[in-house]
Amino acid sequence: MNLTYHPLDLKLRYKFQIAREIRDVQNNIIVHIKDEDGIIGLGEAAPTSFFGEDVSSVTSVFNQSVNLLKNTDPFQIEDITSLLKSRFPKDASARAAIDMAIHDIVGKKLKVPLYKLLGLNPKEPKVTSFTIGIDTTENMCKKTAEARDLPILKIKVGFKNDIEMLKELRKITKATFRIDANTGWTLDEAIKKINIMEGLGVELVEQPFPVGNIETLKKLKKSVKIPIFADEDVRDSTDIPRLSGAVDGINIKLMKCGGIREALRMIHTARALDLKTMIGCNIESSVSITAAAHLSPLIDYIDLDGHLLVTNDPYVGIMIEKGKISLPEGEGLGVKALSNTDIYKHNIL
Ligand SMILES: [Mg+2]
Repeated sequence: MNLTYHPLDLKLRYKFQIAREIRDVQNNIIVHIKDEDGIIGLGEAAPTSFFGEDVSSVTSVFNQSVNLLKNTDPFQIEDITSLLKSRFPKDASARAAIDMAIHDIVGKKLKVPLYKLLGLNPKEPKVTSFTIGIDTTENMCKKTAEARDLPILKIKVGFKNDIEMLKELRKITKATFRIDANTGWTLDEAIKKINIMEGLGVELVEQPFPVGNIETLKKLKKSVKIPIFADEDVRDSTDIPRLSGAVDGINIKLMKCGGIREALRMIHTARALDLKTMIGCNIESSVSITAAAHLSPLIDYIDLDGHLLVTNDPYVGIMIEKGKISLPEGEGLGVKALSNTDIYKHNIL
């Protein structure tokens, strides 16, 4: 197979702020992999500095993968993804791009959508959350009002007046709240704030503490009723067993774990340990958001809104109506590139 790539700079609708960073552009990379029959698979890497990746590390993996992929058979996905994992263990988003592109090729060769290839039933529509990034209370209220059709909001917290802000948001929406502290709290702070949140329609709380505080998570879990999910604390399936008993669920992202194959392992590992699953994303286009969405029939909580947070997504794949996601019926990922005029129409919220 032959690999080529190009940059994709996604412009954010609003400056994206979470507990530890703020930015207005996300630099991703699109990969095209072509097999012997000329079938092209699409993939996307959305690297984040938190996990030690950036555009240059991703393109370096792609350059080295050109040779590794020569004379490989796209049907041997396990062999290919295992080889890439052994060569590039820390480059999960780069591996995810290649993994989804190969799944795209296989789906196209067999003429089935990816969910069908995975043996999944998409009939029960799943609802995604929509993220409200950290901002002034006034702007967070404005963003919340704009998202009035969406039944689940993920609110980013981890700043001084976050509870007051949440009380203000509760006044203007009936949406279910999911809270993401992005490592921003201490134990005392978390217990105090989560206990108040019980009266504010909060369904779950994500990653309260910095990575590695397993004992602190266990103490928190004993002190609060709202389910606690790990995100930054869990990259791939090998991270899950130690979180058993410390959290109620895990957030799976293709960009953290390295693609669809590993995401499937994570889902089954979590289930075996009686943990709930969420599928999340970075700021991504419809390419990798759609790849992740094909796993949604296996997932308890969906958080696939990365493409809704940008104004220049050049692809179309999953459709979202009032939060309900519908998977494309096209072969493979079912993702199509848009013309320039359609990009504008497609990106109006
Ligand atoms: Mg998170």
